[in-house]
Amino acid sequence: MNKSKKKQRKQGGKRLRILLIALLLAIAAFFCAVKLPPMFTEGLIEKEFKASSLLYSEKETENTQVFAGELILVNNAHAFNFDLGEKKYTIASKKNQYYRAKNEEITLNKTTIRQFNALFRDFYKQTGLDNVTIISAYRDYAYQENLLNERISSSGYSTAIRWVAQPGYSEHHTGLAADIAVADADGNTSTFTGRDDYALVGEIAWKYGFINRYPEDKTAITGISNEPWHYRYVGKPHAYVMSLKNFCLEEYEDYLKRFTYGNSYLYVNMHGDTYMIYYVPASAEESTRVPVPRFGSYEISGNNADGFIVTAKK
Ligand SMILES: [Zn+2]
Repeated sequence: MNKSKKKQRKQGGKRLRILLIALLLAIAAFFCAVKLPPMFTEGLIEKEFKASSLLYSEKETENTQVFAGELILVNNAHAFNFDLGEKKYTIASKKNQYYRAKNEEITLNKTTIRQFNALFRDFYKQTGLDNVTIISAYRDYAYQENLLNERISSSGYSTAIRWVAQPGYSEHHTGLAADIAVADADGNTSTFTGRDDYALVGEIAWKYGFINRYPEDKTAITGISNEPWHYRYVGKPHAYVMSLKNFCLEEYEDYLKRFTYGNSYLYVNMHGDTYMIYYVPASAEESTRVPVPRFGSYEISGNNADGFIVTAKK
């Protein structure tokens, strides 16, 4: 009797050990399949990527959405699609006290205003300056057309087109870009040079998702002269990568095409958040099945040319 009880206990223990080993193997297999993010603190990693279909689903996305989103490239070769523009809000109605808007008519997309609030709050905390002023933000087609014609009258055509985009091709149509200036005590504004006390704006802009869109060393690529006053919102991880790699938006959009779903991805660790970024070419059909993670949040943006960029946040 005792002997058989002992035997039973022995067998039970053996079963438990087998169960434990099986469990450990299952956990190990799960982690291999999931491909947990590599351990790194701040920065980016370019990595091979074999996605598990268990963790991804497909989001049917209209191909017209290629022309919408925070990462659209609008330049002399890529026009803005006005039908897809986001709702605009007056800056005056949504801004905080750490910067100014030239007048009540100045409007931008909601997220852009929110991030300007955060940027200029940080700038104020570090410098005590609250006189950065947004002097030009969203522009419609007619406004840009007038602006260009005025510049052609005053400076001639060849100079005008280096400073003012053709109507339909200005980043100001997106609601994601703004020109800033510096106001004096009387409220008169002078050009924002990005120097001296104001250099800090350019140094911290990426933390809030902004890029200085037309830097001096990229004029050959952007086709626009150095404009230290023109800021564009692209989203935090993207502005971060562009600052680390010294890419302008044209270069960044090309770079992102290296990271395609199923092949490789770009991992970005920023302020404790991990982002996974990859490019999905638009299909030849009317819509594209864009692979997106089942867990965590993600955003899909068009690139305004031929595909989508997925930014997933872990
Ligand atoms: Zn501008």
